[in-house]
Amino acid sequence: MSETPTTPHTTPHTTPHTTPRTQSQAETYQRLRAHLAFLKLTDAAEALPRVLDQARADKLSLLDGLERLLAVEVTATEERKLTSRLRFACLPAPWRLADFDYTAQPGIDESLLRELSTLRFVDEGANVLFIGPPGVGKTMLAVGLARASAEAGHRVYFTTAADLAARCRKAAIEGRWATMMRFYAGPRLLVLDELGYLPLAADAAAALFQVINTRYANGSSTVITTNVGIGAWATAFGDPIVAAAMLDRLLHHGVVVGIDGPSYRLRSHQARAEALRTGTEVKPRDIT
Ligand code: ADP
Ligand code: MG
Repeated sequence: MSETPTTPHTTPHTTPHTTPRTQSQAETYQRLRAHLAFLKLTDAAEALPRVLDQARADKLSLLDGLERLLAVEVTATEERKLTSRLRFACLPAPWRLADFDYTAQPGIDESLLRELSTLRFVDEGANVLFIGPPGVGKTMLAVGLARASAEAGHRVYFTTAADLAARCRKAAIEGRWATMMRFYAGPRLLVLDELGYLPLAADAAAALFQVINTRYANGSSTVITTNVGIGAWATAFGDPIVAAAMLDRLLHHGVVVGIDGPSYRLRSHQARAEALRTGTEVKPRDIT
């Protein structure tokens, strides 16, 4: 490492503040670095020369110097863990809650969303159902909640209902059903996107029910996006009894966010159609 101090007589002109003045100080420094490396505090080990320089320049106490050194390790570890949580989460887009434009969706219960964004529902194991037609921002909000939860330290996983059904079917054939159920039960927050977009076969509905039931029993939150209004669940998801039981679990500790405003996706089409009609040009940056 270039930052490793050497004894003063070898490189006197580039001597950092931290250069140990005596042989015994040099040995102590090397032992300290070795301790940090042994304890796998690699970021602290790397930052040691810099922090020692700062400690000397700022005349830090031992207490403050140690705190500064370990803060380097804590920050780096937190960043690594967040990166790994986000990789595991499989979020389909980098959307954040703050990106949601409420003026584009005036019918939405903004205060309910602000409440959800505190993530108290995750601590309470409550569920969230986003219900509305295509393009109104259901997936965006679900992803925003998932991302915020991952950033808050929760284990999160995003999947579509169709993907969950396909993986459960494969797992059943390969004799990995129990493993699959454990996998979907694991995350603190599970997002199930696009429920009801495709018809659910009986085995898929059964898998979905078991996932929701297990998570309900564990007190883990599930966020669902669907285009199927609650009144139509019984007919939309195969067996009406299974559908009713699923809804019962979801709504017992759950909130429903209905979004019935205009499609955000269609805004650009509408803007283009309007431009054609009125003969005005629409610049690409006007369309989001
Ligand atoms: P849904 O899941 O309801 O079909 P999406 O969440 O996929 O809709 O949203 C469709 C597109 O429109 C996405 O690119 C999303 O970022 C954008 N979008 C939807 N609603 C809003 C909004 N209120 N503010 C900003 N972007 C939005
Ligand atoms: Mg969607």
